[in-house]
This record gives sequence, structure tokens and C-alpha cells, in this order.
Amino acid sequence: NNEVQLELRLMAYGSDQILLLARDISRIHRLEEMRRDFVANVSHELKTPLTVVRGYVEMIQTTEHALDPHWLQAFNTIESQVTRMDRLVEQLLILSRVEIQADVETNTPIAMPRLISQLVDDAQWLNQEKQHKITLELDESLGITGVDTEIKSACANLISNAIAYTQDSGNIQVCWRQDGNKGIFSVKDDGPGIRPEDINRLTERFYRVDKSRSRDTGGSGLGLAIVKHVLHHHNAELGISSKVGKGSEFVIYFEQSRLIDLSETQVQEGA
Ligand code: ADP
Repeated sequence: NNEVQLELRLMAYGSDQILLLARDISRIHRLEEMRRDFVANVSHELKTPLTVVRGYVEMIQTTEHALDPHWLQAFNTIESQVTRMDRLVEQLLILSRVEIQADVETNTPIAMPRLISQLVDDAQWLNQEKQHKITLELDESLGITGVDTEIKSACANLISNAIAYTQDSGNIQVCWRQDGNKGIFSVKDDGPGIRPEDINRLTERFYRVDKSRSRDTGGSGLGLAIVKHVLHHHNAELGISSKVGKGSEFVIYFEQSRLIDLSETQVQEGA
């Protein structure tokens, strides 16, 4: 549309002069919208060819004919790279969805204890070989209102990061509770920690502290960007505290207006 969006700045100089600056930001907004649409479309279009490639690789891997070990290794590498690309495309799609859906209603009741324990179970099952000790502390009656797919994605990202970046047999504490008037979801690990200069940049798209390490863990650098957008959409905040060599803690603070008592609210299965 042809609406013009203006950014206004009012500045006072001394006690008798005022300066009003008006900047036309319509073009910036339109470009930003085009960028989002472009990323969403490209990600969507990449899904099909990736699925086809994966299908053929799996077919070859499971062929009845004996494969030369070199070929087998090549196909295993193709498979793991396709899995990485798949994950990246999936993350890009989620990110563009949460960026675009900023005005979707966020009022569905969510049973947080059930959602969180399911995420922890899944993560533990997928990472059995790492033998992390995950402790879970949940306020069983505390829920929130929000978009369940988005909240699930934000919580899952924090849990999977703690698992990915903490050394084998490390300790991870996942907690959901009310503190004063806030609902608090926290994930604490005794992993490598993050330097103060990196902490402020973690939620930027594609920002990874140690690129080679992150590549090993299958990371894309999009996880915390997704978390940031989801939280913005839910007027929630992210706190990160970390000490190099000691560990990190990621905390989501939900406003009181989002909190619900699950013993009094009917929540649909899956939400
Ligand atoms: P990625 O897909 O690379 O994990 P994220 O946006 O989720 O992307 O995280 C950005 C970077 O923050 C990671 O690459 C990693 O370097 C760092 N990071 C995130 N969580 C932790 C953690 N629990 N401990 C140490 N470093 C972390």
C-alpha cells in the first residue's frame, strides 16, 4: 500500500530550542518485508529438492547390492550434509514465519510443564550417547498463553543448545517456576561458557561464537535469533548469564499477564 511511515525524533537544545526530525522509513520497511518474503520463499523451494536427494541417498544406502566402502562413506557424508541443510532450511522457515507472524494472536493456553518435559525427554532420547545429567524442576500448575509452536521452538532451542555445547556427562538444569510476578523458564549448564563480548551478539542471525565447533554440533546460528523473535512476539525477555569455563544460564521471563493457573484452565491436548 501507499502508506507512508515516518520516524519522528524530538530533541531539546537548552531550554528554548526544539528540533523535530522526520524520516521516511516506508522504503526501509518495504525492503525488510521483501527480504523476509524472499527468505521464506527460497527456504520453501529448497525443501522439495532436499527431500528428493535424501530419498535417493537412502535408497542407495539400503540397496541389497554390496557397496564399495568408499562409495558407502561418500553416501554417508552426503546424507549427513543433507540433514544439516534440511535443519538450516527448517530453521530459516521458522525464523521467517515468526518474523512475519508478529501480529498473530498469542492467546492460546499452553501447558508448559507438559511441553517442557516432552522436550527434555525427546532431547535426552536423541542424545543418549552424551550421557548428560538433566534435572527438571517444574511448577505443575503454571501455564502461559501464547502461540504453542513458537514457545515450543524457543524452549527447544535453549535445551538443545545446552546439550550441544556442554561436554559429555555434563549437568543441565531445566526449570519452570514463578518468581514474583514473572514466569521463569531457565536452562543452566556447566558447559564452556560464553565470553562477555559475544553474549550481546548471540541473538543475531548466523552469529556463532566458534564457527568450527558450531559446525560440528550441526548448528546454524539461527536458533537464538528465533528465540529473540518469539519472545518479542510474546512480550517476554531473554536473560543470558555466563562465565567462561563454568557454564551458562539462559532465562526467559514471561510477563504476569501471560501466566495462567493450569488447575483452573482447560488446555487442549498438544497445546
Ligand atoms: P547454533 O545453531 O549455532 O547453536 P544459536 O543461535 O542457537 O545457533 O547459538 C549461537 C551461538 O551461541 C552458538 O553457535 C554457540 O557458540 C553459542 N551458544 C549458545 N548456547 C550456548 C551454551 N549453552 N553454551 C555455550 N555456547 C552457547
